Amino acid sequence: MPENTEELVRKALAKSTPLHRLRELDPALDENQLARLRARVLEARSGRSLSSVSSTALDFERLVGRNIENPIGGVTIPVGVVGPIVVHGSVARGEVYLPLATTEGALVASVNRGASATSKSGGVLVRILRDGMTRAPLFKTNSVDQSLEARGWIEDNFVRLKGAAEETTRHGKLEAVQVFIAGSNMFVRFTFDTGDAMGMNMVTIATQRMCALIEENTHAKLVSLSGNMCTDKKPAHINSLLGRGKSVVAEARIKRDVVEKVLKTTPEEIVDVNMRKNMVGSSLSGSFAQNAHFANVLAASFIALGQDPAQVVECSQGSTFAEVRKDELYFSVTLPTLEVGAVGGGTWLNQQKELISITGALDAKEGLRGKWLAEVIAAGTLCGELSLLGALSSNTLASSHAKLGRSK
Ligand code: NAP
Repeated sequence: MPENTEELVRKALAKSTPLHRLRELDPALDENQLARLRARVLEARSGRSLSSVSSTALDFERLVGRNIENPIGGVTIPVGVVGPIVVHGSVARGEVYLPLATTEGALVASVNRGASATSKSGGVLVRILRDGMTRAPLFKTNSVDQSLEARGWIEDNFVRLKGAAEETTRHGKLEAVQVFIAGSNMFVRFTFDTGDAMGMNMVTIATQRMCALIEENTHAKLVSLSGNMCTDKKPAHINSLLGRGKSVVAEARIKRDVVEKVLKTTPEEIVDVNMRKNMVGSSLSGSFAQNAHFANVLAASFIALGQDPAQVVECSQGSTFAEVRKDELYFSVTLPTLEVGAVGGGTWLNQQKELISITGALDAKEGLRGKWLAEVIAAGTLCGELSLLGALSSNTLASSHAKLGRSK
């Protein structure tokens, strides 16, 4: 803290300086000093202590302008580790670890139990079905005929649009465009290969460039760079059907004796719970998701790994499937919308980067790191589903949470 901190606090209070304009009080302050001053002013205004929040190791000189505005400190979330998980992915292979940042007691232990069951049965096979990040701007026209005319131009000029988009990025590649028309509304859903990045900023910047070209050459006028058919940070069937980010399937065959010893249940009981809960229950409730708790593993791993946690909304749409095959349980999870990256966003922060490294993703070749991460997260999601369905079918869910989440 600078020596004159208390004087600056008094000035800020006297002038009612907004917290985002404290620099005006002393232009020499760096971003770390400003963050602490902001916290002090907020403490004075609110009469509440922010001593834990403001004592952070984060370096706001590096973060402001990239990851945060108006910082006052940081929140520390405990990180537990799952693994090793034996993964047989198209990219990720071997024994890997998945970090989970959570305050939900019992979550890490439960996913770890799933990892143990899959590893004892040979591991988790993972495949990426599709890979493409989308942005769907909305245009308005005067009529359906104008919308059709604009669609024709877009389809005929794919190469030109692609060229314009790719001038804005070294790694983003326009792969496809789909036009949806609703009267005088035209939604243009662009799909990009985004390399190792999740790609949302990359694709948004590239889409802006293409929108200008569409406006110059058609009667369509841009209403919004995002028309909600992308669909980002909202639950939406379009993502389940067409995919967004990485569409991933993870599957495992768990031997009957492993189900009995590790999960304390039987393959038949897991299949029964999955069918009645994830299929019938989800259908009756009108849920978008036919799974037990994808969101748990996704939210905790996204936070640990520097991903955008708001995207758990759509990433957690997906289904769990189970069937008995002779003396084993076939178990799979399908995640049509796994939006993750090994570069960009919060992945470069020191702690998040360390945690990405323990998944093995950074040892993969450039171009395969995002896929590696997606495969590990999908494998972890399977472990979480398997363990929870095991706990539900053996009726140990409440007791394990009482033991691990309420023991203090
Ligand atoms: P980003 O951090 O904005 O960009 C990724 C950067 O990594 C690009 O500059 C890219 O360069 C570079 N890069 C270096 N090596 C790469 C490689 N091997 N593969 C791919 N890129 C590589 O991240 P982003 O993934 O585009 O977007 C994620 C961020 O968007 C998150 O912070 C998320 O919270 C935020 N977000 C934004 C929106 C939005 O509407 N804008 C919506 C949701 C989330 P080149 O581009 O030159 O290739």
